[in-house]
Amino acid sequence: MPELPEVETVCRGLAKALPRHAIKRVIQNRHDLRVPFPAALKNITGHRVTAIDRRAKYILINLDNQQTLILHLGMSGSLMLHHKDKKYLPEKHDHMVLVMDNGTSVVLNDPRRFGLVALAATKDLARHRFFAHLGPEPLDKNFTAAYLAEKIKTKKIAIKLAVMDQRLVVGVGNIYAAEALFAAGIDPRRAAHSLKPAEIKKLVSAIQKVLKKAIKAGGSSLRDYVQTDGELGYFQHQFAVYDKKGQKCKGCTCDIRKTGGVQRITQGDRSTFYCPVKQA
Ligand SMILES: [Zn+2]
Repeated sequence: MPELPEVETVCRGLAKALPRHAIKRVIQNRHDLRVPFPAALKNITGHRVTAIDRRAKYILINLDNQQTLILHLGMSGSLMLHHKDKKYLPEKHDHMVLVMDNGTSVVLNDPRRFGLVALAATKDLARHRFFAHLGPEPLDKNFTAAYLAEKIKTKKIAIKLAVMDQRLVVGVGNIYAAEALFAAGIDPRRAAHSLKPAEIKKLVSAIQKVLKKAIKAGGSSLRDYVQTDGELGYFQHQFAVYDKKGQKCKGCTCDIRKTGGVQRITQGDRSTFYCPVKQA
């Protein structure tokens, strides 16, 4: 599933290719994904892209008619850019294609179809039902230790579940919640309200650090993707604990025959990975 760093990478790829160009044609190969495609989608033809933005895991393509095309990649969605020197050959699960006036095609492919395409007035986005309830962006200046401390001071749920709550902060998905808690040395099962101020400070900085690092990794692979017209949005990660059950955590010095290495537990129906030594 694409997480925030992947979506940010997609947005940066689009930001290099689309602004100032007009949408010449919208090809719809089906009428819906998770929800029906908006009827007004055909009306975006002829309009220029003014800017690319992101809110949580939504990709926002702002147009010169004061409308915003909203895309979500769901569980399995991806966007491909095909430049005019390489002919676009349709593939299975290519559900929507934006053909730009310079010959670039933006192809939305989504085998499992949990993704979404919507349109909204740009000025109303903050109040839109997708966004109105969302907490701050994790890399925004509003996401501070003081903010998090205030939000979790009465919360009895596990800290991992708390930071994954989109109303508290957006874009900290399952992978990066585990990685950030490891980096901060906090047991993911701890009751949120039991965290001490110093731990909250460490956690906020760890969340920002792991996300920035992942975005940077995406950025370095993005160059290759754009050059080869490849898939935007997925790249190789180096994880410290995620998906490493029974293995040494990053920088581990303990005897894993005794500790069992990285543990996997289930929290809120999702897998959590943590080091029983460093996150004790
Ligand atoms: Zn360890």
